[in-house]
Amino acid sequence: MRNFTYAAATGIEDAFAADGADIMLIAGGTELLNWFRLGIASPGHAIDIGRLEGLNGIALHGDRLSIGALATLNEIGEHPLVKDRASALGEACLKAASAQIRNRATIGGNVLQKTRCAYFRSEAPLPWGCNKRVPGSGCAARDGLNERHAIFGWADSCVAVHPSDPLVALTALDAEVEIAGKNGRRVVPVTSFHLTQEEAATGVENPAETMLPETRLEPGEIILGYHLQVVPGQRSAYVKVRERASYEYALVSAAVSVTLEDGRIVRARVALGSVAQKPWRLSAVEARLVGVVPERDIVLPILREAMIEARPLRHNGYKITMAAGAAARAIVNAAMGDVA
Ligand code: SF4
Repeated sequence: MRNFTYAAATGIEDAFAADGADIMLIAGGTELLNWFRLGIASPGHAIDIGRLEGLNGIALHGDRLSIGALATLNEIGEHPLVKDRASALGEACLKAASAQIRNRATIGGNVLQKTRCAYFRSEAPLPWGCNKRVPGSGCAARDGLNERHAIFGWADSCVAVHPSDPLVALTALDAEVEIAGKNGRRVVPVTSFHLTQEEAATGVENPAETMLPETRLEPGEIILGYHLQVVPGQRSAYVKVRERASYEYALVSAAVSVTLEDGRIVRARVALGSVAQKPWRLSAVEARLVGVVPERDIVLPILREAMIEARPLRHNGYKITMAAGAAARAIVNAAMGDVA
């Protein structure tokens, strides 16, 4: 690990100095210190934003639920406002990591974590190709062990998936990300904040030889927090399929929010996790679910049909069946849940 200087930010302007390469921001530290240890990042300076005022808290303003970037996963998961108005997000936060990690990890850091691809998460220097670590070195997972990799939105240069659980729930809840930088503040829908490899490579001449962005965050910008419109009558749920319940990243996951009238769905949002480099919204399915009774045998064929667009790799075809099943379970769970 390379030596680096450490300084605590005294105001939000200090955070704007971070360029993402030699100066990086740290808050909970549960992700960034792993990057330093493995050589994924080796900045000369770390700026601690963990004690900055104004980035904390969870509050309801009218029908808008706001969550500060420094709110921890446990704070969010246990908060009564989240449990009442956005239960999918609460469930996702509580399933995201072990209790110790959840006490430190912030939502802002969680959504900016990097892929769990085993070829990527190894100590430098890597004995195999990984374009995300060394552009132009190849992608060992493309034709290697890829059972945990993408079935949507991937490119030959990288087939990794995003590992965040809360991000999947935020996507199904139509959240917006509030960002600040030297040029002021802006708000971006969470659905367009992260990029698939296909999206990131659009217009790039040699994508495999370029360090492609994973989000629309510019150098010097930070996430201030998330805003969710609380839809009256909305119910939501999160289902995570993993190899062990105690603590594990998802094989696939699904977050759903639905509104019902007379026992039928009148509004639906469905997002899949661990199937692409960003949560994958099933927009066509959402339209087809309107008017449908939220029962497993009825919604599952609709979800399976939507999976026709998946492009599985050699070892991950199982995700197609598993993701449809997780989404069906999430729809049923949401329909049975409490109303926001
Ligand atoms: Fe690297 Fe992406 Fe390939 Fe994994 S999938 S080895 S992160 S380029």
